[in-house]
Amino acid sequence: MKLDETELKMLIELQKEGRQSRRILADKVGVSTPTVSSKLEKLENMGIIEGFRVELDHSKIGFQKYYLKVEIEGDMEEGLRKLVDSHKRFRALEKLEGGPYLLTLFVNHFNQVDEATTLIEEEEGVKISDLWRVQEEEKKVPWLPLDENVPLDINCYYCNKPIKGEPVKWKKDGKEHYLCCSSCKELYEEKYERLQKRKKEMREKE
Ligand SMILES: [Zn+2]
Repeated sequence: MKLDETELKMLIELQKEGRQSRRILADKVGVSTPTVSSKLEKLENMGIIEGFRVELDHSKIGFQKYYLKVEIEGDMEEGLRKLVDSHKRFRALEKLEGGPYLLTLFVNHFNQVDEATTLIEEEEGVKISDLWRVQEEEKKVPWLPLDENVPLDINCYYCNKPIKGEPVKWKKDGKEHYLCCSSCKELYEEKYERLQKRKKEMREKE
C-alpha cells in the first residue's frame, strides 16, 4: 500500500507551508479543492499529518537545548518513559539502535539542567552516560526529504513493515490505524490502550 502521487505532492507542499488554504493547495498539486479536502482528512486520520503547529526559534527566547544519552538497566524502559513524561522540559525521547536513549532537554536557566539530571540520576537503574549542550543549530530542516518521484510505502503501525495489499484498519478515537495483519492489529490495540492510559494519567497529574 502506497501514498498516491497527489498525496505525496500535498505533503511536499504542506511541509513547505502548512498555513496555505485548500484552494491554493489544490491549484499547486493540480486537483480540485474537494479532492484536497478529502485527502487532507485521510492523511490526518491516518496520523501521517500529525498536526499544524507554530515553530518557535528557542534560541531567540532564551532557551538552550541539551542532548542527554541515557542508559537503562534491565526492564527500566517503562520507568524511564514515566520519568520523561513527568517533566515538561524533556521534549523528546528516542531509542537508539543498540539500546541507549537520546533525550532532548530544553531549559532557560542553567539550574534546570541540574534539576533535570538529578531527577534521572535518582531513578534506580537509569543513568546519564553523556550530556551535550547544543551550541548552534547549523542546519535545521524540520521536514522529511520527500521525493515526488518515489511513492511512499505505508508501514504497519505496529511492526513498521510495508503493508502489502489491503491494510487491516482499526478505527479508534476518530483516527484510522493501519495494520498489516490481524495479529499486528491485536498487539497494536493492546499497546495503544496502554499508551492512552498513561497519557490520561499524565494529564490528570498536570
Ligand atoms: Zn504488522
